[in-house]
Amino acid sequence: MAGPSIAPAVGRSWFSQVSVQVAESVFAVLFPSDCRICGEPLVNVSRLPVCPQCLAAMRPIAGGVCAVCGERLFSSFALSGSDGAPRCGLCRRIAPAFVRAVAYGSYEGGLRELIHLLKYAGVHPAANVLGRMLAEAIADLEPELPPDSIAVVPVPLHRSKLREREFNHAERIARAAIKTKLSPASGRLLLCPGILERKRETPSQTGLTRHQRRENVRGAFGVAQPETVRGREVLLVDDVYTTGATVSECARVLRRAGATKVWVATVARTLKASEQPVEIRLSGAADVEVSAEKEIPLARAAGG
Ligand SMILES: [Zn+2]
Ligand SMILES: [Zn+2]
Repeated sequence: MAGPSIAPAVGRSWFSQVSVQVAESVFAVLFPSDCRICGEPLVNVSRLPVCPQCLAAMRPIAGGVCAVCGERLFSSFALSGSDGAPRCGLCRRIAPAFVRAVAYGSYEGGLRELIHLLKYAGVHPAANVLGRMLAEAIADLEPELPPDSIAVVPVPLHRSKLREREFNHAERIARAAIKTKLSPASGRLLLCPGILERKRETPSQTGLTRHQRRENVRGAFGVAQPETVRGREVLLVDDVYTTGATVSECARVLRRAGATKVWVATVARTLKASEQPVEIRLSGAADVEVSAEKEIPLARAAGG
């Protein structure tokens, strides 16, 4: 029964002005920004300022990868080891200190930006999405993991870096991955963030060769709780696997402290592209750069 006599024009305009203000402030809270990856306006309520299209584009690695380190394999590199599993050239030459490293996606595009949102912009809800991805990667290891508990060790930050950033992103992602209960192994995954420590600050690894990266992290880590790892298997967790220098060094000290096996799971991995030069380490010689085969990666050839 609304009519002009019940709701005077002045009251209505005041009310609509207030409701616009309320709507705007609610909008500002629920939709704080555009998608932080593609810039499109967000239309759904979410604590994570990333649109569904950008999230959906973060696909798992497709195509053949090395059974040890997870590097992309091109058909001519798909050389099998003694167990029949394909291995990349590097893993055929030197077996890493870890048994196997798995990763969810390629470290590029939106996934790379999502990791940066957590790491450098402190967008904490990103850890949940990255944790789900990490849980999917861990599920790949499931058949090989021990039936009893396994110690999950996030790659630690140096205390000065931790003070500056206020959180260890690897630990946040590991915690979120365990919470998803995606893999049957989740119940056996025991987060043990205090086992490893970064004893010294390491300069940024960006732009360094594989050999330089290895030198950069050598001796940077120590096992703070050797009694916790002795005789046990460890799952090392980090955001990105680049050349594997960091996780290899962590795995080396964990093994030396008595860990029986070290597994590695990361959210992302840098993958060799056919156009990029491939660094090949010759025994006893300095790193040399050689051109990669002009070949289409398996993933791309398969349309993925
Ligand atoms: Zn987007
Ligand atoms: Zn490999």
